[in-house]
Amino acid sequence: MSGASTQAIVVGGGLAGVAAAVAVAQAGLETVHLAPVGPPDRRTSALMMPSVDYLQSAELIGAPEELGHALSQIRIIDATHRLIRAPETLFDASDAGIAAFGWNFANAPLLECFHACAARYGNLAVQTVGATNVVRDGTDWVVTLGDGRTVRAPLLVGADGKKSLVRSAAGLRASERSFNQSALVCDLDLTRPIGSTSIEFHYPRGPFTLVPAGGNRANLVWIDDATVLAEAQAGGTEHLLAIFEERSQRLFGKMSLASPSHVFPLGVLSVDRAGADGVVLTGESAHAFPPIGAQGLNLGLRDVADLARSLAEVGSSRGDWAVAVSQDYAKRRAADLARTGGMVDTLFRSLLADMLPAQALRAGGLWALKLTPALRKQAFSLGMGIR
Ligand SMILES: Cc1cc2nc3c(=O)[nH]c(=O)nc-3n(C[C@H](O)[C@H](O)[C@H](O)COP(=O)(O)OP(=O)(O)OC[C@H]3O[C@@H](n4cnc5c(N)ncnc54)[C@H](O)[C@@H]3O)c2cc1C
Repeated sequence: MSGASTQAIVVGGGLAGVAAAVAVAQAGLETVHLAPVGPPDRRTSALMMPSVDYLQSAELIGAPEELGHALSQIRIIDATHRLIRAPETLFDASDAGIAAFGWNFANAPLLECFHACAARYGNLAVQTVGATNVVRDGTDWVVTLGDGRTVRAPLLVGADGKKSLVRSAAGLRASERSFNQSALVCDLDLTRPIGSTSIEFHYPRGPFTLVPAGGNRANLVWIDDATVLAEAQAGGTEHLLAIFEERSQRLFGKMSLASPSHVFPLGVLSVDRAGADGVVLTGESAHAFPPIGAQGLNLGLRDVADLARSLAEVGSSRGDWAVAVSQDYAKRRAADLARTGGMVDTLFRSLLADMLPAQALRAGGLWALKLTPALRKQAFSLGMGIR
């Protein structure tokens, strides 16, 4: 098979893909990045301090305050009418001896900032065309592009989302499950300030979370049954706002929509291994879960940070370097992927659990966190992905 030849190909132009392409280029490899232009990403991402530190050290962003909004408190309100309810809990970053848990960014400007960083690397060639086929040929992966050309390289990075073509071509097994719940997101202007506190109202079918987005603006992430969200949207703007005000217990006064609302279907996806045979999977090609505890992109950026470590550790001088990178990467990622996936799954199940023992465990857990500083510190580390 002929076609252009390079050292690494990165497939997927989402946040994980551009960050991965930059990491590979920073390792000095000739890199082709397949990043078709998609619809604008309407989501926002609460990124914990270790992720923000990584983005800064990789020069993907400058000072976070140029782009995002600090998150210094997390308030949890149990809004269920269950028999056993959790206490209202306020987590303050100062309890962990830090100024903020993290920063909240709108994905679209964050992606633009990543692109500006990528443009600084002469060894990184961006093609705005997708991959349509991926096959192994000797020690190379050969990728066919949407315009019929082919490109080959020993290292192939999948950052092509949940339905990853790279993952299936490499035979990396994924388990998937979809939920009845979806997430509705939009920007809201509030009449009372939210400060730098992210506030989660826990309802029986999922949390209703307002995340500070500067001034009196908040990003809403409302998880509920897909049918409930569809009905809410169908009722028109005033109906939607009335629901939002009621769900937020009128703590923020009158609300107005600062963006259209969008709904994202939810599910979980996990892989047995995140790399093999010269292929590595990053971001949602390797893991996806509901947006609770702000874990998705944080985990995706930890993938990229580990990819950078594997590239630095293995180098590219030995004959089988790309296979060795993928093996090293899979080993590095195994524990974090299992731990984070397990944590989000447990959290999501406990939020939805109708059974008394589960309610008691969750309420008891929050009481323990509220009352025990040492436990709270451990929970901060786990939630922030500190290793
Ligand atoms: C409502 C919601 C709120 C969230 N909030 C947070 C949060 O607060 N904090 C957090 O850490 N995470 C959050 N997440 C998760 C986070 O948004 C995702 O983990 C992250 O955006 C995934 O990035 P990605 O690049 O892996 O995938 P994607 O953004 O899905 O990008 C995949 C890319 O691959 C491209 N692609 C697909 N197939 C091909 C192909 N064949 N060839 C070339 N390109 C291809 C697609 O066009 C796309 O651009 C949230 C998720 C949702 C749904």
